[in-house]
Amino acid sequence: MTTDNCIFCKIVRGEVSSRKVYEDDELLAFHDIQPVAPVHFLLVTKEHIDSMAGLDARHAGVMGRMMVMVHKLAAEQGSTDGFRIVCNTGRVGCQDVFHLHVHVLGGPGPLPGMIARA
Ligand code: AMP
Ligand code: ZN
Repeated sequence: MTTDNCIFCKIVRGEVSSRKVYEDDELLAFHDIQPVAPVHFLLVTKEHIDSMAGLDARHAGVMGRMMVMVHKLAAEQGSTDGFRIVCNTGRVGCQDVFHLHVHVLGGPGPLPGMIARA
């Protein structure tokens, strides 16, 4: 997909509105449009990268910075006692939007179990 048609690139460029949580030169965070938890926002790279499978050593810095800031953003959004991150990747991961994004899910209460066990 070209970045022209990518919904998250459009959000990064300000062509599609979003409820912003955080922004810097390389990263943007905004609330998921269909939340599945009391706290549910997405952290995206401003650079268009299709998925986690598109990462290479050049991205170590920005991905490291993303991981380091998650707990602070989650707490600011009200999930002060933990959270869950999810990064659906590719066909097996049932990824819908092919612009790298990390879901940040939080409480206040505990989240349901991640994957139901038989
Ligand atoms: P996935 O690619 O499966 O990780 O899911 C993509 C996520 O992006 C879903 O949770 C959608 O609700 C969310 N989403 C899609 N379009 C928008 C949008 N315009 N603003 C905020 N979240 C969105
Ligand atoms: Zn994109």
